[in-house]
Amino acid sequence: MHYDVIVIGSGIAGLACALAAAPARVAVLTRGAFGEDGASRWAQGGIAAALAPDDSPSLHARDTLAAGAQLNDANAVRRLTDGAPAAVHWLDRIGAAFDRDGAGYRLGREAAHSRARIVHAHGDASGAEAMRALRTAARAASHVDVFEHHRAVRLATRDGGVRGVAAIGPDGAVVFAANAVVLATGGIGALYRYTTNPASADASGLALALDAGAALSDLEFVQFHPTALAPAGGESGQLPLLTEALRGAGAVLVNGAGRRFMPALARDAELAPRDVVARAVWAELERGETVWLDATRAVGAAFAQAFPTVYASCRARGIDPAREPMPVVPAQHYHMGGVRTDAFARTSVPGLYAVGEVACSGVHGANRLASNSLLEGLVFGRALGQRLAGVASAARRVDLDVDAADPGEVPADVDAAIRDTLWRHAGLVRDAHGLALAAARLRELARAAPPRSAAAARIAVAQRIVEAAARRTDSIGAHHRRDAVAAQAG
Ligand SMILES: Cc1cc2nc3c(=O)[nH]c(=O)nc-3n(C[C@H](O)[C@H](O)[C@H](O)COP(=O)(O)OP(=O)(O)OC[C@H]3O[C@@H](n4cnc5c(N)ncnc54)[C@H](O)[C@@H]3O)c2cc1C
Repeated sequence: MHYDVIVIGSGIAGLACALAAAPARVAVLTRGAFGEDGASRWAQGGIAAALAPDDSPSLHARDTLAAGAQLNDANAVRRLTDGAPAAVHWLDRIGAAFDRDGAGYRLGREAAHSRARIVHAHGDASGAEAMRALRTAARAASHVDVFEHHRAVRLATRDGGVRGVAAIGPDGAVVFAANAVVLATGGIGALYRYTTNPASADASGLALALDAGAALSDLEFVQFHPTALAPAGGESGQLPLLTEALRGAGAVLVNGAGRRFMPALARDAELAPRDVVARAVWAELERGETVWLDATRAVGAAFAQAFPTVYASCRARGIDPAREPMPVVPAQHYHMGGVRTDAFARTSVPGLYAVGEVACSGVHGANRLASNSLLEGLVFGRALGQRLAGVASAARRVDLDVDAADPGEVPADVDAAIRDTLWRHAGLVRDAHGLALAAARLRELARAAPPRSAAAARIAVAQRIVEAAARRTDSIGAHHRRDAVAAQAG
């Protein structure tokens, strides 16, 4: 099949790009149900934009740089925060119903933002509302064809550039040719024992890019959320997120003895930065404690109305968060690193572009500011689409010779081994010894994996992450080291 542009992924980044690319003919490939299978739909907090009279894109940029430990690309940050208000207005125009206060948006405030600037919808259902609007617009757009249940398995290269994609669909392999291929495949949660990400966030975009020879950057910068709902048994995988807004509303973290541990560790106690709270929860668990998030006093009877998404997750586990504390573990939440992109979302391989969580545009530095990732997908996705609109006139039919063999699924034992290795040795707390153990374990797994298999591809990405973390342990990694954590824990 021939298109002008192929977009792999139907989250916020992929759909923003596809919609903006008219009149180019765009194929959107997505591995599950259209617009429902990525993390975007699950986002709770919202989208950050300087819309308040006391706010400005430069203040938003300053907060973004501070959160990122100044390791961000300052120009990319400016493009992000300058573009934020227009991106929110565009989403509004295509039908997203954000919560309003009189004539303007009701703006929330989140940790590390110096102003109220979070646009949200139906309380904690912001991502679902944004995706509803994008899905509807994409379905109505005559230049967009959607291929649901199509998993991209290989990029096709020709004359040194990417010119297509091989995908496995319901009826077998399909090869798509195009002038431009956009990776919008989301995150890497499937590499970790616990994650808040959906199953589709399995690092396949990074694996595709790696296989095509594209450069990856900042892979060691992985954000862990301090409070996911702990699993009932020992199972690994996706866990429901217990939003930061609960701690914002006064919920406290306590250990098995009912003792709060955050006030002794950080001035802002439970509202300290995400990484500080996450490592403190990890340290308690490592000591053999259980950790609980207690909202019974702070939220109590208002829980179901104030936090409907969290309430539903707890009730599904037989927990009534209005009356009892919720058991928590930290969980992998977001990848700041990814496929390296320039100011035009180009990767290092001609014809291959990346937007959204799979990309490393440099906006997040070492740590993402809350509610900046839906924003990144929107702003950079639209900007890329607008540039790719021009490729329609340059469309040229090519025949591709690509290996379209099904690489299969990652076997359950290999999946578990990767998750455990990264969680234990390349997770919240890292040191040189643990990273060397992780590297050795991944080498063993790589030796046993069949060539060109999905397992080999995922292991290769895990290896790159561990190598990047090992290179970093002596610089920013200071706060990832066990001794630093021990000192903080006092
Ligand atoms: C629980 C939760 C809450 C969050 N809350 C917020 C928030 O409030 N604000 C905020 O800014 N961010 C939030 N985030 C982060 C944010 O949701 C994500 O970073 C963002 O949605 C990523 O968008 P994306 O378009 O890059 O990827 P996604 O929305 O994850 O979409 C990826 C798409 O790629 C597809 N795909 C993947 N691999 C393949 C393949 N091989 N072939 C075909 N298709 C493929 C997937 O099926 C999916 O359609 C949250 C994340 C989670 C998990």
